Amino acid sequence: MTTRPRWVAFDAVGTLLVPEPSVPVAYHAAGQRHGSRLDVGAVAEGFARVYRQRTNPKLLDRLQTSEDNERIWWQRVVREVFPDVADPLALHADLHDHFARPDAWRLCDDAAATIQSLQMSGIQVALASNFDARLHAIGAGHPGLKSIEVRVVSSEVGWRKPAREFYTALALACRARLEEILMVGDDRDCDFDGAKAAGLSALLIDRRATSPSEDCLTSLIELVDRIA
Ligand SMILES: [Mg+2]
Repeated sequence: MTTRPRWVAFDAVGTLLVPEPSVPVAYHAAGQRHGSRLDVGAVAEGFARVYRQRTNPKLLDRLQTSEDNERIWWQRVVREVFPDVADPLALHADLHDHFARPDAWRLCDDAAATIQSLQMSGIQVALASNFDARLHAIGAGHPGLKSIEVRVVSSEVGWRKPAREFYTALALACRARLEEILMVGDDRDCDFDGAKAAGLSALLIDRRATSPSEDCLTSLIELVDRIA
């Protein structure tokens, strides 16, 4: 049994929202419009290779960020995924706009009902995401997420999860003590270990149940029984 928190903070991507179409499919389609001849498999592989650099534990000391920093990072991703595109900045601008649209994201099936149940039981809900300012429009554009008024976004905080500074900013935004917040997310380093190290409680969401444990949920719905 998890102690009842005052707040539950959800990670966004992979926890409440997934890109639909998938990132490789969206990248591939945009790449084609800008003259790329890569197939979707090569795009997927290239994206995974570049993205791994961001989650490389050796680089996790580079957690300071900003809107500019995030844009530069995604421009680099596009450049590296599409070496055959003449104007990668134009392609990046297209992809940036695509992923800013609420309809580029699907709400996970277990998200809306869980958020509603938590709120009805008097628990407050926040979004806590490594993302940029686009997350506000995405959050406001999904009926199931609209009721979440506190959105803490790394580019605005200046620090990415798992940095302690990110979690301090989350507590400040919630006007809560760190230990009054339960963080729920799909990334062990960022959402679980980082949150615990900062003094929050934390649960992982692992819908494929790859390594079941007491700290893992296989559906967000389980959260309601555990704490609400
Ligand atoms: Mg995530």
